[in-house]
Amino acid sequence: MNWTEAAAAVNQAGSILVVTHVKPDGDAIGSMLGLAIALREMGKKVDAAVDGGVPDYLQFIPQQETVLGELNQGQWDLMISVDASDEPRSGDAGGYGREHSTVVINLDHHATNTMFGNIHLVIPEAVAASEIVYDFLVKMGKPISKSVATALLTGMVTDTMGFRTNHVVPRTLEVVHQLMLAGGPLVDVINRTLVSKPLSDIMLWKEVFPSVEYKDGIISAVITPENLQTVELRDMTDAGLVSTLVTADEVMIAVVFKVQPDSKVELSLRSKIGYDVGEVAFKLGGGGHKAAAGATVDGTLDEVKAKVMPMLAAVVKQGNLISG
Ligand code: 5GP
Ligand code: MN
Repeated sequence: MNWTEAAAAVNQAGSILVVTHVKPDGDAIGSMLGLAIALREMGKKVDAAVDGGVPDYLQFIPQQETVLGELNQGQWDLMISVDASDEPRSGDAGGYGREHSTVVINLDHHATNTMFGNIHLVIPEAVAASEIVYDFLVKMGKPISKSVATALLTGMVTDTMGFRTNHVVPRTLEVVHQLMLAGGPLVDVINRTLVSKPLSDIMLWKEVFPSVEYKDGIISAVITPENLQTVELRDMTDAGLVSTLVTADEVMIAVVFKVQPDSKVELSLRSKIGYDVGEVAFKLGGGGHKAAAGATVDGTLDEVKAKVMPMLAAVVKQGNLISG
């Protein structure tokens, strides 16, 4: 791993930009803010940016108010991209940052990472980008403050869905232990990110459940722009629907099709252990992990379904072969 090279880049930099992936989740914001706060504590001049800013439910993370929702000025010695597997994934903020930064560190845990940037801290075994940020800070000899611990715990909790994913290992809990010792509020983070939800999420489920279909290990649902209007949701979230659909015993793969107004369909994919939907998402121009992935595909709902469903059926078949 390029820890030494990355630490040298940080030491040499006066100004640093941290960016993450669009439609940021808990690990995106947690790893970005954990790193930004720590670098500020080290005396660096740090900007953090993601298109559209920090979602409401993550606004308990310290220094979230410093996150820029758009970038149109600035120049940095170093840009660090966290939790983004490719360049487009960091959106307009990432694009602007790359053009106005001398060196780029790519810090990520997606197996589908395209290895962009000058220095790679890409560790697919890490449960969250936040875990890699933790390791990086420890390597640099930087003590973990309570604020940093709160941010990084958020990533550890959300990307493991509360320590329920298959890549959780004893080391995961060692990192969490250290973050708790540093003052990170584990239970509060779990409640805010995994338990609490706006009523509009439930209302969206009510709208969308009639579209649920099941066949041969694959369950699907469709969210239309009209569904979102009805429940007055602020963004194209699936309100945790796909993660719930995959919990049914008969289901190997769950897919939610989110129809966009501009003849595009956004896919959210989840799978049981032994079934790799990350590869499918990657082939469709997206990316992700074996068990949780996504992509945005051009076409009408029918066209996209006709393309995607056979690919998922092949994964179900393949998975069966592998598991015997
Ligand atoms: P979600 O279903 O929660 O939107 O996405 C699940 C995971 O899939 C994300 O954490 C991310 O790793 C990956 N993902 C989703 N959409 C995209 C995409 O358009 N491009 C890439 N590279 N990854 C995606
Ligand atoms: Mn992540």
